[in-house]
Amino acid sequence: MAAATVRGVDRNTSESLMSLKKAVTAASPLALRIVAECPVTKARACDLALPHWTVSTPVFMPVGTQGTLKGITADQLESLGCQICLGNTYHLGMRPGPDLIERANGLHGFMNWKRNLLTDSGGFQMVSLVELSEVTEEGVKFKSPYDGKEILLSPEKSISIQNSLGSDIMMQLDDVVSSTVKGPRVEEAMHRSIRWLDRCIAANKHPDRQNLFAIIQGGLDAQLRKACLNEMTQRDVPGFAIGGLSGGEEKDDFWRMVTLSTDYLPREKPRYLMGVGYAVDLVVCVALGCDMFDCVFPTRTARFGSALVPWGSLQVKQKQYAKDFQPIDPDCQCPTCKRHSRAYLHALFKSDTAAMHHVTIHNISYQLTLMRSVRQSIVDGRFPEFIRTFMKRMFPSPDQYPGWAMEALASVNVALD
Ligand SMILES: [Zn+2]
Repeated sequence: MAAATVRGVDRNTSESLMSLKKAVTAASPLALRIVAECPVTKARACDLALPHWTVSTPVFMPVGTQGTLKGITADQLESLGCQICLGNTYHLGMRPGPDLIERANGLHGFMNWKRNLLTDSGGFQMVSLVELSEVTEEGVKFKSPYDGKEILLSPEKSISIQNSLGSDIMMQLDDVVSSTVKGPRVEEAMHRSIRWLDRCIAANKHPDRQNLFAIIQGGLDAQLRKACLNEMTQRDVPGFAIGGLSGGEEKDDFWRMVTLSTDYLPREKPRYLMGVGYAVDLVVCVALGCDMFDCVFPTRTARFGSALVPWGSLQVKQKQYAKDFQPIDPDCQCPTCKRHSRAYLHALFKSDTAAMHHVTIHNISYQLTLMRSVRQSIVDGRFPEFIRTFMKRMFPSPDQYPGWAMEALASVNVALD
């Protein structure tokens, strides 16, 4: 089935991309075309047409906290092939504020970014500021860390800010509970997230040009997840996110909740797994049927001198690289690897923040290149082989393969040897 889909698509790529684009501007601001489905796993490769660009999935979306990625410009992000990146509503809503950004023609104009933007609801930041916040049916109340004023982030307020930012994808405000919390609070948060989704849908002033995604909650409880999936998939939203994971839960619980979610999510809509960015997690969760990912990890770890490579990571600051004139990864085509050696970056880290910039560029390039290779292997009908080769390179020996990853892959018919 997949091979036939692939052949049909190769002939018509530009034509169907154009009709996809038309579909976006005419009626709904999102169109998903499945380019290929892996005949073995649940993986798929899609073209996701959004108002500013057509995104090739599976896709990793870098996070730009305050409108720009720390240490990298919109220009550089574009030349690395990034088609969609994230803006943090909480930070942007506080400073410089939605009014100023609206006057700059939204976040696209403010950043001068021509491609797609996804904004979060602002709610997730509340988990990290939990000592300052209080959740009621109305919304999340918290004290501004900038001036101490009390602020209410309601579903309506979150959507109003995201409408001002003008993002291509907006996230609903959800009631976020840490994935390690158990008991009635998880059920309460799940039901409240459904009610808040309805308030977000009603509050969206631009359904013709901004896509609102629902966020599936339910903690690590399969029954609650199913109940949430059942309710939310009855709403006519353009896409779904799997939320409430990647917060320190056991990996075994994590992958089971992911695969349960993709089993129930509609095939014709995009599936975004929030907060996932480790290479192994990305490859496994693509196999489980997810299309979109985001995580601060690749850029955060770069600032500590940790470069992502096919065999794990390389700590540029370590002494052993002081006289090593190879690039970070000899096979990497990024501007950092084309120009600079490990020794140069090692020396630069002692004195200059430019070192962080160079490693950030490399790490984003690593993530985007990884996802492009994953996609190509799905299109070529060889994703299971790709996984085996990827794992062999990532771990020195098969007895070091993480048990959860082996189990998750076995659940979608990929045996690692
Ligand atoms: Zn590189």
